[in-house]
Amino acid sequence: MGYDPLTAASPGAGLAHMPSYWTATAGALPHDDGPAPRQLETEVAIIGGGYTGLSCAHQLASAHGIKPVVLEANRAGWGCSGRNGGFARMALGRLSAEQMIAAWGKAAATNAFDIMRASLDHVRSLIADGRIDCDASETGHLKIAHRPSRAAELKREADVLRREFDYPAEFIEADELRATHIGGTQSHGAVRIPDALAVHPLKLASGVLRMARAAGALVHTASPVTAWEKRGAEHVLTTPHGTVRAKKVVIATNGYTPQHLHPAVRATLLPVLSHIIVTRPLTPEEIRAAHFLTRHVLTDSRKLLYYWRRLPDDRILFGGRGLITDSPERNAQQREFLLSELKNKYPGLERVTVDYDWHGWVCLTCDFLPRVHHAQDDMSVHYALGYQGSGVSLSLFAGKLLAQGIAGHPVEHALPALHAPLARYPLHRLVRIPQRLMYLWYRHLDNSD
Ligand SMILES: Cc1cc2nc3c(=O)[nH]c(=O)nc-3n(C[C@H](O)[C@H](O)[C@H](O)COP(=O)(O)OP(=O)(O)OC[C@H]3O[C@@H](n4cnc5c(N)ncnc54)[C@H](O)[C@@H]3O)c2cc1C
Repeated sequence: MGYDPLTAASPGAGLAHMPSYWTATAGALPHDDGPAPRQLETEVAIIGGGYTGLSCAHQLASAHGIKPVVLEANRAGWGCSGRNGGFARMALGRLSAEQMIAAWGKAAATNAFDIMRASLDHVRSLIADGRIDCDASETGHLKIAHRPSRAAELKREADVLRREFDYPAEFIEADELRATHIGGTQSHGAVRIPDALAVHPLKLASGVLRMARAAGALVHTASPVTAWEKRGAEHVLTTPHGTVRAKKVVIATNGYTPQHLHPAVRATLLPVLSHIIVTRPLTPEEIRAAHFLTRHVLTDSRKLLYYWRRLPDDRILFGGRGLITDSPERNAQQREFLLSELKNKYPGLERVTVDYDWHGWVCLTCDFLPRVHHAQDDMSVHYALGYQGSGVSLSLFAGKLLAQGIAGHPVEHALPALHAPLARYPLHRLVRIPQRLMYLWYRHLDNSD
């Protein structure tokens, strides 16, 4: 069985990256500062060396003159940040624009939309400033109606984005979609969001690691925090080799957060598996048969959505959720299931095979919204997490917001729903039961009109 954050005490210590298409194509990974030493004192310790933790470290060191220490259990980018689909999209939780306006009113929804745009701009400037070579390309995002009945909903989404936020989203009718972007049996129109980047996620994580260290942060790997005590005003974090004393601590562990880590996050998160397959390169005939012309990053209108894209070397990356437990047998089944779902979409890919597959834990919260906040009873404990599986751009931006808060500066784009305490799941220990029911219900909805 793989690591399950609901039951295991730690994600490991010094584990290698899970083999994936990304590890196979990342080249040599950059240096880090090795395991944390016996004794270390710092103003800010950051637990977790993914996009959130590395970005926060980079911002603290480069913009606020604070040299933090990152403690990562395994390697930088070992969690979601080195193994995601590489879709840097405008995303903030699971609410649609219409739902945000209904829940929070126009002003706060506009603020949320501004955060999504600012997140993507932040990714663009990080890549430019750090000259991060992560195969980034401005692709745009197509959200495709997987059944004819879903087209109206997507058309409305495009209308709301244009009308309420003056954002140039457009709805592409089914005929045009098939003629100019993509064929297959499940292309019934799409909303086009012009802003989205495709990136190599592990190269991006490596780039932010380099930037954080160049600015003066220490990034200690193979350093899981196994115990955490507060002594007076000081936090004492235990790692396998010693202790780290810090005035402030940031929790940047997202879907990999062990339950015991800190009371502020206990029973508040639902880690959920997401699985990716990458096919062998398609032949020109297969590309023609599927009419797979587009380089947009693609998602569909399912509740249990699929995400996919044509990679620069003409392989298809195809991902989705559905598994509850991380076991070798289940993972093998999920690989076959995803391949069959890809072929259902594009019968022209009947002969295609899979070269790589892997999986990771994304992080849900009770209300499907991320958080950038602090512990209710301790302003020296900060956290940013709960990106609901769409955190490439938001987690990097959350690192910036965290750093502003820690340095005592006004936080850009304050959004009450984001800067609010995490709610606890009732009966959290049994949370896999409602998750199973939720998946069954979602599958039913996804297969009905
Ligand atoms: C298969 C998959 C596909 C995805 N695709 C996309 C996508 O295309 N687009 C998108 O926007 N989002 C995607 N996501 C989500 C996105 O990758 C995450 O939201 C984002 O990477 C979160 O970054 P993070 O730094 O907060 O967490 P992570 O990158 O998960 O980092 C958390 C780190 O904390 C460490 N850790 C945990 N406990 C401890 C401890 N006790 N001590 C020390 N370290 C600890 C872990 O080892 C881990 O490295 C995907 C996720 C998965 C799993």
